[in-house]
Amino acid sequence: MTDLYYDDDADLAVLSDKKVAVIGYGSQGHAHSLSLRDSGVDVRVGLKDGSKSKAKAEEQGLTVKPVAEAAAEADIIMILVPDQHQADVYASEIAPHLSAGNVLLFSHGFNIRYGFITPPEDVDVAMVAPKGPGHVVRREYEAGRGVPALIAVEQNPSGRAKDIALAYAKGIGGTRAGVIETTFTEETETDLFGEQAVLCGGASQLVQYGFETLTEAGYKPEIAYFEVLHELKLIVDLMVEGGLTKQRWSISDTAEFGDYVSGPRVISPEVKENMKAVLADIQDGTFAKRFMDDQRNGASEFAELRRKNESHPIESTGRELRKLFSWITQEDDYTEGTAAR
Ligand code: NDP
Ligand code: MG
Ligand code: MG
Repeated sequence: MTDLYYDDDADLAVLSDKKVAVIGYGSQGHAHSLSLRDSGVDVRVGLKDGSKSKAKAEEQGLTVKPVAEAAAEADIIMILVPDQHQADVYASEIAPHLSAGNVLLFSHGFNIRYGFITPPEDVDVAMVAPKGPGHVVRREYEAGRGVPALIAVEQNPSGRAKDIALAYAKGIGGTRAGVIETTFTEETETDLFGEQAVLCGGASQLVQYGFETLTEAGYKPEIAYFEVLHELKLIVDLMVEGGLTKQRWSISDTAEFGDYVSGPRVISPEVKENMKAVLADIQDGTFAKRFMDDQRNGASEFAELRRKNESHPIESTGRELRKLFSWITQEDDYTEGTAAR
């Protein structure tokens, strides 16, 4: 069993004489800066001029500065703008203000792993990556709990990078839940693989094919929605609580038998070969290059894929059905069906 770090293994005092700049105030940025502030850390938020997030951060009582100014005055800089913009923000607003002994932090290894950012050798480079969406990271912190996190050290000229990463993880509640040490390479490659093959790509495609198979066979779209999308959450909750075994214990014997005989027919061995090909593209940088090339060309492939997927019939069926659910509330900064985000 790998080592897990908890509150007692991390010392917030490591940050007591440090100025921290959190660059970006989105999903992760708002959670980190508010929770660090509540943990007694001296934090400022760095945002570009005219940023939409500025008013929100100021309403929460945080100090907001231009990115360059926040980076210049900070000892520890956490970069939490979207991965595809980090290299540009780093080159123009952060790199010119780095000095020896500064600490550069990330919540995902993408830009370091694929070489889009190459920090100077006299700067510590580390990662604190909560394993959950930013809004859950903040909600759990406020509830006195935390979301598990990964830490990693890429460069350590000070010899203190791991202590700083652990202290930062404690400041956002991570060590309440448990922190595991990894490397930038392992975090980046497994994170991309998980989201592409299973969590996002795999699960979304499975749901869409299931919905298409039922509706093309003449079943009602509303029934298909419940069977292949809505119930997925209930099944996944059981998996998280007690693994596949608890899930199979809770479902009927009919469902369990069907799981064993039909699961491998649907997800046949070729699917595993496809997964290996996806992993190979992640490992050799093919995926990263495709994503960043498209971003640098105005993200037209991305926009087209988003538009195509948002117009899948399961989305309009779900939109209408969910209006009837009293227990589902809309996230504040989430808008459904907006291809032109
Ligand atoms: P968001 O998309 O939520 O970040 C949005 C923030 O970045 C906003 O404050 C936005 O400002 C600002 N921003 C966008 N572009 C620029 C720019 N060019 N210059 C300056 N500021 C900019 O990011 P996430 O929180 O999703 O991701 C941040 C990092 O955390 C990434 O590395 C990601 O991989 C990682 N991560 C994210 C998770 C998540 O839950 N989303 C989970 C774990 C890791 P404005 O309001 O003006 O647009
Ligand atoms: Mg990810
Ligand atoms: Mg059923």
